[in-house]
Amino acid sequence: MEKVINLASDNTAGVAPKILSSLTEAANISSMPYGEDPYTEKLQLVANEIFEREVLIYPVATGSAANALALATVSPPYGQVFCHAQSHIEEDECAAPEFYIGGGKLSLLEGENAKFSATNLRERLENHSPAPAVHRAKPAVVSITQATELGTIYTVDEISAISEVCRSNNLPLHMDGARLANAIVSTDLKIADCTWRAGVDILSLGATKNGAFAAEAVVFFDASKAADFEFRRKRGGHLFSKLRFLSSQLVPYLEKNYWIDLAENSNCRAFELAEGLGKIKSVTLLAEVQTNMIFLQMPTKLNNILKKKNCLFYSWGEKDGMICARFVTSFNTTKQEVARVLSIIQSAESATKSKN
Ligand SMILES: *Cc1c(COP(=O)(O)O)cnc(C)c1O
Repeated sequence: MEKVINLASDNTAGVAPKILSSLTEAANISSMPYGEDPYTEKLQLVANEIFEREVLIYPVATGSAANALALATVSPPYGQVFCHAQSHIEEDECAAPEFYIGGGKLSLLEGENAKFSATNLRERLENHSPAPAVHRAKPAVVSITQATELGTIYTVDEISAISEVCRSNNLPLHMDGARLANAIVSTDLKIADCTWRAGVDILSLGATKNGAFAAEAVVFFDASKAADFEFRRKRGGHLFSKLRFLSSQLVPYLEKNYWIDLAENSNCRAFELAEGLGKIKSVTLLAEVQTNMIFLQMPTKLNNILKKKNCLFYSWGEKDGMICARFVTSFNTTKQEVARVLSIIQSAESATKSKN
């Protein structure tokens, strides 16, 4: 049997070596519980350094928890959260944001490449029924995803423009940064420049998909917006007594650019794969490849051949012999794996040609 090449998602990869060794090190010490440990203290310092200002950083174990807790902290139960229709909080979190908010309403915005624009948002905020405000859910927070669910990237200008609309409506801006590292590698920006300096108030900072075992963090740039976060985290079951096992993953991750190195591998492998796919006649790329995700359409036959050869990925929407698919590369996807996927596709392609 050929070795599995797993392109289903970036959370199929294991744990990056330095994160694993930090976990092992944390396993060999005893420390005070609930975040009063050296790793959690160090994490706070590392975060202040990479963000070039004082922030509040809170580790949690999943991205859904990070998003739901972050949004709940700034939204009343009758609040509206503005987000893209394809966003993870809408499509992939089982209504956790609404649950943690204690009600809440996601208001969905459209836009190409899984991004909505500032104009889009402004129009939505301005166009409502003439009834008094008390009849509507109260606008509470705006959420964008970076990189988006399609692997595309909001430019700093786009984020700043959205944030201006937020400011003029007195709304905080949340960023779901499950793949922020991948966006940063592609844009070569500093994390401060594409978050708080562009007007982001609260960040869900991912690490699991980029090499951690299970660690994400909620980052508040404005301490006043963090008001009751700690109570919500505890009540939601996300204050770990051995919090050091989350923090000890995030410390080496964020220190010394490790997160950037890991995401660089994912992105480079995706670009190589996309370049190769671009040369295959029967394959169409469905979105510009800007990070580590590739959306494509290919013949169903080719999909079946790849899967038979132990190449794993998601595919859907079979129609007229064609199927859509998503390839996601990871921090440990190798050049050899990319080459093998491409060679399977190339030989399938030339076999079909010779038959015709
Ligand atoms: C993966 C992902 C998350 C987090 O998902 P969990 O499974 O809850 O860790 C959040 N947002 C986006 C955009 C994601 O892709």
